[in-house]
Amino acid sequence: MKRIVVLIGALFIVIIGFGQPNPTAVKFASLITEADLKADLTILASDAMEGRETGKRGQKMAAAFIAAYFEDLGLKAPVAGSYYQPVPLYSTGAPIVSLNELAREEFIYSGSGQTDGKSTIQLVFAGTGSDAEIEKLDVTGKAVMIMLDANASVMNNPVITKLRDKGTKAVLAVIEKQEDFTRMSGMFRRFSGGRLSLKKQEASASYSGLFLVTSATGAKFFNTSFDKLKKASADKKISKIKPGTITYSISRVVSEVKSENILGFLEGTDKKDEVVVITSHYDHIGISSSGEGDRINNGADDDGSGTVGVLAIAKAFVQAAKEGNGPRRSILFMTVTGEEKGLLGSEYYSENPIFPLEKTVVDLNIDMIGRRDPQHKDSAPYVYVIGSDRLSSELHVLSESTNKTYSNLIYDYTYNAESHPDRIYYRSDHWNFAKKNIPIIFYFDGVHEDYHKPSDEVDKIEFDLLAQRTKNVFHVAWEIANRENRLVVDKGEKK
Ligand SMILES: [Zn+2]
Repeated sequence: MKRIVVLIGALFIVIIGFGQPNPTAVKFASLITEADLKADLTILASDAMEGRETGKRGQKMAAAFIAAYFEDLGLKAPVAGSYYQPVPLYSTGAPIVSLNELAREEFIYSGSGQTDGKSTIQLVFAGTGSDAEIEKLDVTGKAVMIMLDANASVMNNPVITKLRDKGTKAVLAVIEKQEDFTRMSGMFRRFSGGRLSLKKQEASASYSGLFLVTSATGAKFFNTSFDKLKKASADKKISKIKPGTITYSISRVVSEVKSENILGFLEGTDKKDEVVVITSHYDHIGISSSGEGDRINNGADDDGSGTVGVLAIAKAFVQAAKEGNGPRRSILFMTVTGEEKGLLGSEYYSENPIFPLEKTVVDLNIDMIGRRDPQHKDSAPYVYVIGSDRLSSELHVLSESTNKTYSNLIYDYTYNAESHPDRIYYRSDHWNFAKKNIPIIFYFDGVHEDYHKPSDEVDKIEFDLLAQRTKNVFHVAWEIANRENRLVVDKGEKK
C-alpha cells in the first residue's frame, strides 16, 4: 500500500513537470464563479451607477463598492492606509466663442486659442491658399481667409499649417456649399465637448484657431460677394480684395475634477518586494447627452467585465493565502480611473507609483472580457491576447503554456500584430506600464456593436465565457507570482 502511494507521488511530480495542472491552483481558481461575477457586475453596471462617468457620482459609487470589496477580503490598503489613490484631473470645457455679430450656428470653431476679452484684427483674403497666393501676403498677426475644399482634411491641412507657420493669428475657411457646412457642423459638435486631462491644458497665445463659415458669410467680411472672391483668386488678383476686420473672443471654463484609482494589496511570501499588477478600468463614459430612450452607458463589458474579473481573482488569491498558499510575489489589484479619457489613471500611477516600478514584474490588464465580437460569433472560447511577446520572451512562453495547461482558450493574436491599424497595444492601461519597460499582457474580447453605447448591458454578458477568461488570467498571474525567477525583460519596444 505504502509503496504504491510513493510511486503515485513520484509519478505525480514527473507529470507536473510536463505541464499538468497544479491542483492547488485549480482548487483556488474554482472560487472564480459565474454567480459571483454576475452578482458583482449586476451592481457595478446597474443604471444606478449612471455609466460611472469619471469624477461624477456614479464613479464615486463604483469606487466605494470596489474599496469595500477589497476591505472585506482583507486586502491591505496600500496608499498610506487607504484604498484610494487620488488622481487630480482638469476638465477643460468646450470653448465659448464669438465671431463678429454671427450667431453661434453660423460658424464652426476648432482650436485651443484663448483671448483676453474681445480681439479685433485685420482679415486678408488668400484665395485657395496656394503657395503663389500666400507668398507675397503679409499674414503676421492677422486673420487669413481661404476657400477650403469641403473634402479636404481640416485637422492636418497643409495650407492651414503653412499659414500658422507664417505667423497667422487665425484662419477663416470658407465652405462653398451650405450642405457641406451643415455636415461639418455636426461632426465638429460631436468632438467639441469638455476634455479631461492630467495637466492643465495651455491655451495657445500665438494662434487662435480655425473658423469655418459658409461662402455667403465669408463674403460679407469683405463687403463683397463670394463670386467676386472666387474670380479674384482665379484671376490671380487677390490683392484687389480690400482687407476687412474680425472681432472675436475665445474662453474656456477650466475646473478641477477629483477621481481615484482603487488599489488593494496582497503581500507575497518570500519574494514580496516584487509586485505583480492586475488592472482594469472601473469608470466609463457616463450618460449620453443626446439620444432616445436609455442613455446610460452601463459599460457592462467595458470595463465592468474586467473589473469584476479583478475582484474575483483577488478573492481567489486571498483565500489561497488564508489556506497557506499565498503567492510568493506580492499582487497589486488595481482598478484605475479615466481610461476612456486617455488612460489617465494608469498614467498617473505610472508617474506616481505606490510600489517601485523597478520591482513591478508584470501588468496583466483586462479591458472587456465578457462578450464575443462578430468574428468569433460561433467560435470555441477565445480571447484576444495582446503584448505578451513585446518585452519578455519568457512571459509569452509562460502565457501560452499556462493557457494550454489550464484553460485551453483560443488565443487570438490578431490585434498583437505591430502593423494592425487599430493599434490596440497602445490603447488601454497596460500601455502606461509597457512604456516603462514592464512586461504586460492585455486581455480583450474585441469590438462589438454595443461598444460605448447604452446597450452595453449586463444581460448581454456571457458569464461562462467571462468566468473562463477570468480563470485564465488568474492562472497566468499565479504562475508569474509563484515562479522561481522574475520574468526577464529581454525585448525592447521601439518607441
Ligand atoms: Zn475599456
